[in-house]
Order: sequence, then structure tokens, then C-alpha cells
Amino acid sequence: MVKISNVRVRPLVLPLKQPYHWSYGIRESFAVNLIEIEADDGTVGIGECTVAPDQTGTAAILYRLAKHLVGHSPHDVAPLIARIFHQEYLGHGANIMRAANQIFSGIDMAMWDLQGKLAGLPVHQLLGGAHRKAVGYFYFLQGETAEELARDAAVGHAQGERVFYLKVGRGEKLDLEITAAVRGEIGDARLRLDANEGWSVHDAINMCRKLEKYDIEFIEQPTVSWSIPAMAHVREKVGIPIVADQAAFTLYDVYEICRQRAADMICIGPREIGGIQPMMKAAAVAEAAGLKICIHSSFTTGITTCAEHHIGLAIPNLDDGNQIMWQLVQEDIVSSPDLTPKNGWLDAFRKPGLGFQLAEDLVAEGEGRYAASR
Ligand SMILES: [Mg+2]
Repeated sequence: MVKISNVRVRPLVLPLKQPYHWSYGIRESFAVNLIEIEADDGTVGIGECTVAPDQTGTAAILYRLAKHLVGHSPHDVAPLIARIFHQEYLGHGANIMRAANQIFSGIDMAMWDLQGKLAGLPVHQLLGGAHRKAVGYFYFLQGETAEELARDAAVGHAQGERVFYLKVGRGEKLDLEITAAVRGEIGDARLRLDANEGWSVHDAINMCRKLEKYDIEFIEQPTVSWSIPAMAHVREKVGIPIVADQAAFTLYDVYEICRQRAADMICIGPREIGGIQPMMKAAAVAEAAGLKICIHSSFTTGITTCAEHHIGLAIPNLDDGNQIMWQLVQEDIVSSPDLTPKNGWLDAFRKPGLGFQLAEDLVAEGEGRYAASR
């Protein structure tokens, strides 16, 4: 049985094609910590962690946690991570799980990549197999002004996109302007809005009334993520379906959202729940409540896209407009396979593990940018 012999962490800074506008502010780049977990036969599994709030600090935590992995089997990923949580986090309070999950996500991803490579099987086959031949993704509109967003919407519509996704929560006047401008360009295609906790309950109810005429498929996380009852209150009062995102970080959040009937679907990704295998558990809880999962991405490269794609293949109760973000960086560090959806669909991967190859020159450039930023 192979054992883990070495763990490397590689902090990267990756500039975006254009500034990213949402209710929390503006971003110019993604920061990720690559994690490479090496087995004693030389096989390497690769994952990545998002970084919050400090990249060097997050990398230091990853190195500390990695000490628990060396000498153990990569096939024991779930009990290993459970033990790390118990020994390193739980005594400081269960709420720290949200921060821990962001770190565990990259470790879990790398461990599944490693397991797949060792078995010669794609990760979704280790998770029970594919429920579908392809996974559906939405078109993520980018821009600051109504004019810029309308231009991007026209591009997406011309290339046959099915589902469009627009950030709101940026102020009532601008929200209504950009929604009208996008709806004007996309015909009867599906349009989803994400308010990213930008509204109070009162704001959300009023905004939903004003937005209803634009045929909105759903509004994501209208209200503050800490209050599941706030979201349930909005859902009770408005006609537009409500989707939970930032409210759903842990398995216990997923259960509470289901129990309180606070959302019509749950948007959650490996960064929130702590990796690939925990996503299967989150999906199972939602499935029992009759809800679908919409996979969520958070400032991540094609590495996470590949992990999410395998999750999307393996989850039965999956939405057809999931989120990916690799396309927002100037040059993605995944060189193959091609992660561009065709008409919003991406076929199943067949290669072992997560199934990607990295462009080492771009990884080295990302490391250089991190070193220069310190
Ligand atoms: Mg969201």
C-alpha cells in the first residue's frame, strides 16, 4: 500500500482578464495555494485552496496540517481530515469549521486526484459513477456598467448560451439598469441574479417585486448569510425562487436550510463544504429534502473546475447551470483538457484522477507574482 511521502504548497497570484464587480467590492486577481501531495511511488495528486484573508498565512496553515498526512495512505482521506479537524480546530469552537473547510478543500481535492491516478480511474468513478454524460454550466456575465454587461450578454447570446448569471446587490438603480440591459440582449434565455448578501429582508422583498418583470429564474443569497430565517422570510414573501449560497458552508448549514425550507436550491462548492467527498454528503442531505445542488466556485482555476466537474457527474440531484471561474483569469494554469463548455455543456472526463495537465510555465509565473507581492 502506497504512503504519502511529501506535501508541497505553491502560492500563486493570477491576474484577471478584467476587474470583477460584485456586492463585496472589486477584484483584480485570484490568489490560490496549489497543494501537491506525493506518494512514495512518485505519483502526485494536485489540488488548490482559495486564500482568505492572507495568502502566506493560509500557506503556513496548509504546511502545518500536511504533517498529519505524511506516512499515511491517500485512501484514508476522510478519516485523516476528520482527525485533523478534531485535533487542530474543534477545541477552538465548532464555528471555525467554515475556515477549516476552505483549507481542507485543497487537501481533499489533491488526495482524490492522487487516488484516481493510483487506481487508473477518473475520480467520478471512485465516487459511484456518472449520472450524466455532460455537466451544464452558466454564462458568467462580466463588466461594471449596464453597457459593458449588455455587450457581454450579446456575446453569450450569439454563441448559444442557455443560462446567464448576473451579479446584483450593487445599489437599486444600477441593479435594475443592468438587469434590464441584460434581459434586452438575451431573448428568453434563463437569467439568474446573485445579490451576495447585499440586501436586508425589506430591500429583498421590494427588489424582487421590481425585478419580477425581467423573468428571473432565481435570486441567490439575497440576505445576510448568517441568518437562515431571513432568507426563509424573503422566500415566503416573493414569487422569484431563492437560492442559498453563502449561507451554506457546512453540512449542518445545508440541513438547516432544508429544515427551514429557506431556499429552492442550494448553491455550494468544495471550498465551502471542504472538498469532493463532503460535496457528496451535502448533496445527499439536499436530496432528502427534494432540493438540487448548484455547484459554486470561488476565485479558482481549472483545477477546481475539474474537481467540480467530477462532483457534477457523480451527484444525482444536480442543477444544469453550475458555476466555473477559470475563464476569468488571463491565462488558466490548466493546459488540458479544454474546459470551455459548448452551449453551456462540458462532456465527462475519462483520464485518471481529476484528469488535468498543468502549464508549468504559467504556474511558475504565478509563483513569481506571489513572491513579488510579498
Ligand atoms: Mg453566489
